[in-house]
Amino acid sequence: MASERCGYCGAALDPPEGRGRPATYCGTACRRLAENVLRRLSRQLHDLDDQLGMLERRRRGLGYGGTPEGIEKEFVAVSAIRADVEAQYERRVRQFEGAQ
Ligand SMILES: [Zn+2]
Repeated sequence: MASERCGYCGAALDPPEGRGRPATYCGTACRRLAENVLRRLSRQLHDLDDQLGMLERRRRGLGYGGTPEGIEKEFVAVSAIRADVEAQYERRVRQFEGAQ
């Protein structure tokens, strides 16, 4: 269903002309900002995956230090952050693109 609002700033959009795909953003600036937000979140997810991979190796005794309890705690904490960032990402995608 077509939205009449910019996916980024919420400004009202002009109704689409003709049969083209309706605009999702009010302009290039908002499109870029939206892309930046998604890029930043996906970079965070990538970094968190790296951290989890490192912790996984430490879990199996292949990395440096920490008690098993400490590693486990960190793993749980990083996993929670990752889940949160992933939820943010999905929410943003819905916000930016669900409007189409
Ligand atoms: Zn906008």
